[in-house]
Amino acid sequence: MGTIMDIYGKKHKVIGCLGCHLRKNQIPSAGVVLGTKYFEVEQDTEIPIAAFMIIVSRRHFKGFGNLTKSEQKEFIKILAKVRKAMEKVLGIKVVYIFQNEDSTSHFHVWMFPRYKWMDKFGNKIESVRPIMEYARKKLKTKKNLEEVNKSREKLKKDLMK
Ligand SMILES: [Zn+2]
Repeated sequence: MGTIMDIYGKKHKVIGCLGCHLRKNQIPSAGVVLGTKYFEVEQDTEIPIAAFMIIVSRRHFKGFGNLTKSEQKEFIKILAKVRKAMEKVLGIKVVYIFQNEDSTSHFHVWMFPRYKWMDKFGNKIESVRPIMEYARKKLKTKKNLEEVNKSREKLKKDLMK
C-alpha cells in the first residue's frame, strides 16, 4: 500500500497498514462520526458516496474470529446504532454490510447504502464494484461532496448524542 486518493482527489502517503495509518493520522476530509473504546466509524476515505460508513477496529486484527468478548459486545451495538441512524436521519432503506477478510489485514466492516441512482448498475453484490468505480471517477463534484459532508455531519450529530 503506497498512496491513496481521498474523496476530494487529494493523495496521501500511507505507511504500513492503511487501517492503522488512518487511526494515527486521521485524514480530515473523510471524518469520524462515532468513536468508541474499540472502534471508530467513519465516512469511507476513497469513495464519495453519502453515508458510506466504515466500522474500523482501533486494534490491528483480521476478522470476526479475532474479536474479544468485549469487542463483540461493542461491535453489535455500534452496527445496530449506525444502521438505525442511517434510516432515521437520512431515510436510507437498504444497506449492504460486508467484511472482506482478504481486502486488507485490518478489521473493517462496510456499511454501503443503496440509493435510487444506483439502480442503473443493477442490484445486489455484483452492482457494488461498478457503483464504487463510478463514484470514484464521476462523483468528486462539488455538489456531491457537499452532500457527502452534510450526510456525515447529520449522522455524527445523531450518533454522538
Ligand atoms: Zn492495522
